[in-house]
Amino acid sequence: MKPPVILWFRQNLRLADHAAFIAAAAQGPVIFLYILDDETPGDWRIGAASRWWLHKSLESLGKKVPLVLRRGAADRVIAGVLRETGAKSLCFTRDYAPWAGALEARVKDTCEAEGAACHRYGGFLLHEPEDIRNGMGEPYKVYTPFSKACFAKGGPKPPKPVPVFETWTGAVAGDALADWKLLPTAPNWAKSFESRWQPGEEGARARLDAFIANGLAAYADERDRPDRDVASRLSPHLHFGEVSPAQCWHAVRAAAARAGGRIDLAAEKFLKEMLWREFSYHLLHHWPSLPAEPFRPEFAAFPWQYNPQHLKAWQKGLTGYPIVDAGLRELWATGIMHNRVRMIAASFLIKHLLQPWQEGARWFWDTLVDADIANNSASWQWVAGCGADAAPYFRIFNPILQGEKFDTKGLYVRKWLPELGAMPDEFIHRPWEAPRSVLQAAGVELGRNYPHPLVDHGTARDRALSALKEIKGTA
Ligand SMILES: Cc1cc2nc3c(=O)[nH]c(=O)nc-3n(C[C@H](O)[C@H](O)[C@H](O)COP(=O)(O)OP(=O)(O)OC[C@H]3O[C@@H](n4cnc5c(N)ncnc54)[C@H](O)[C@@H]3O)c2cc1C
Repeated sequence: MKPPVILWFRQNLRLADHAAFIAAAAQGPVIFLYILDDETPGDWRIGAASRWWLHKSLESLGKKVPLVLRRGAADRVIAGVLRETGAKSLCFTRDYAPWAGALEARVKDTCEAEGAACHRYGGFLLHEPEDIRNGMGEPYKVYTPFSKACFAKGGPKPPKPVPVFETWTGAVAGDALADWKLLPTAPNWAKSFESRWQPGEEGARARLDAFIANGLAAYADERDRPDRDVASRLSPHLHFGEVSPAQCWHAVRAAAARAGGRIDLAAEKFLKEMLWREFSYHLLHHWPSLPAEPFRPEFAAFPWQYNPQHLKAWQKGLTGYPIVDAGLRELWATGIMHNRVRMIAASFLIKHLLQPWQEGARWFWDTLVDADIANNSASWQWVAGCGADAAPYFRIFNPILQGEKFDTKGLYVRKWLPELGAMPDEFIHRPWEAPRSVLQAAGVELGRNYPHPLVDHGTARDRALSALKEIKGTA
């Protein structure tokens, strides 16, 4: 009888296209282990909205294989499970968070000490961060050459099916999922998540299929429109590894081949977005301080104007700028925010309100179901102008014009700000400019049922540019 093998699930909560599972299944009967490790990540323990997702995803996975749930520092837990079960091998998928490398080294030592083999596999990314280097052998700091280098390497290998496997039937204790209290208690702020999301491998597959059937064709032209439903919404599924990037890549390429050239542009655009994810991980791997410190060190001296009231107003979607407020309300209600609106809302917090980007990143960390240490950190730094290949700081999004350009009829704003529902299109993104009679007819009373703008756009813009001048001398 072969000794058991531990498959340690991490951000790869799926059975198909799972290299670590294939390896484990080939070695012996499998123990399916998930560890809730709130100790190792320190300040970056999984945020509240992501905990909701995690609960649902584990629930879904637990219906397919018997999960052993344990809580604690992963290396300690693994040592315990090896001892208790006599397992002689551990298989897992590599993680790239700043704390993950040291943890994986401790896990390897633990396995050695317990006389077990330790096997690490890829699969969370299309390319290992070390494998993509520029002509000088250095990591990339600019997206376009990085993406070209990725395309030049060719697509990932075709995804692999679920392997034939045997489940270990020995006794091993585990926690009950409900005891982890990952779901919110009263008030249940995640109520409306239920109808919107289907966490788990089946939900991920369904989302990918629906995107290919309904969104992909319009993706190149309309991805930036929050009033349209064309983006894939795969980000939480990718974050939790319920679908692999290789599965997405091949599914989109196959759809493009079936369409015989009609959606090549859309497919290319989607694959390029997937490579932004790769780029974020590439940066995080090579610059692990990315979640906390500006990539461009001169920005550490930026004269932020800490203002808890302004931060709170932004978090609650009460800034008086409709496109910004709609985004923050969408985030609270659904756990997600459209990419274009993320950029506008983040820019507003940083540049109009002069609040540190780290505060915004923290709020996103707690409220996004796709909160991702690489994508979130790299994107906030990109908007702030302090990241690698970032938008220049002096390019300040105008939240009125952005709204008018990407939400032309104000459908997105009306959806999330019902108090502005009856405003005419002309003033939907600038209600403070509407004549009193128009406001009255729309039932809007500024300062009562919708706020006055927190800051004037022109004044805030000038203030942000002067703040930038202060650090320019140190650049
Ligand atoms: C301030 C800010 C914070 C962000 N925080 C996160 C985060 O915590 N987690 C997260 O996954 N994304 C984050 N993003 C990136 C992006 O907004 C989301 O990935 C995207 O909106 C997810 O929607 P989708 O799946 O429909 O994307 P699609 O347009 O369908 O793209 C497909 C996939 O490509 C990847 N992708 C797309 N755009 C980006 C991007 N700009 N950077 C990195 N990967 C990308 C995602 O995995 C996404 O699921 C952030 C962007 C900004 C501006």
